[in-house]
Amino acid sequence: MTYRVGIGFDAHRLTAGRPLFLGGVRIEHERGLAGHSDGDALLHAICDALLGAVGGPDIGSLFPPSEERWRNAPSSIFLERAARLVKDSGYRVVQLDAVVIAEEPRLAPYYGAIRSRIAQILGVSESRVGLKATTCDGMGFSGRREGIAAQSVALLARRPTRQRPKKSRSRAS
Ligand code: MG
Repeated sequence: MTYRVGIGFDAHRLTAGRPLFLGGVRIEHERGLAGHSDGDALLHAICDALLGAVGGPDIGSLFPPSEERWRNAPSSIFLERAARLVKDSGYRVVQLDAVVIAEEPRLAPYYGAIRSRIAQILGVSESRVGLKATTCDGMGFSGRREGIAAQSVALLARRPTRQRPKKSRSRAS
């Protein structure tokens, strides 16, 4: 079995007047993540983990912020595209794990919804999607509540190629 691994990291600034999206799920919070798209740092990190595993371009190259059509785009579009690239490269997702680094809001109540959403987009069972959140204990940009970061790692396995059934030669009787 051939395996591939990929890692992804992303961080976005928290800003007033924006809805907060993490893992494709709307999170109740007074500020959201700034970005050309919806700013979903978790999905962006997962995209880069998947893309890295298949040696693909990174998310910024696939969906340049300079392109107007990605303005406020739901990042689920990016993950769908990354998932398709994984499939087209002949691989499947064995396991995905991710961690969100945020002082607030508390994400534990959303774990189920986020894992379910990511699993749905990737077409895998929820058990293949790990998720957790942690704080930076008040240190750095995350500790000062200036932004939210996310990291992800993906393990892919080569999809079995379909064996063609051998042609049985019919004998003339
Ligand atoms: Mg990003």
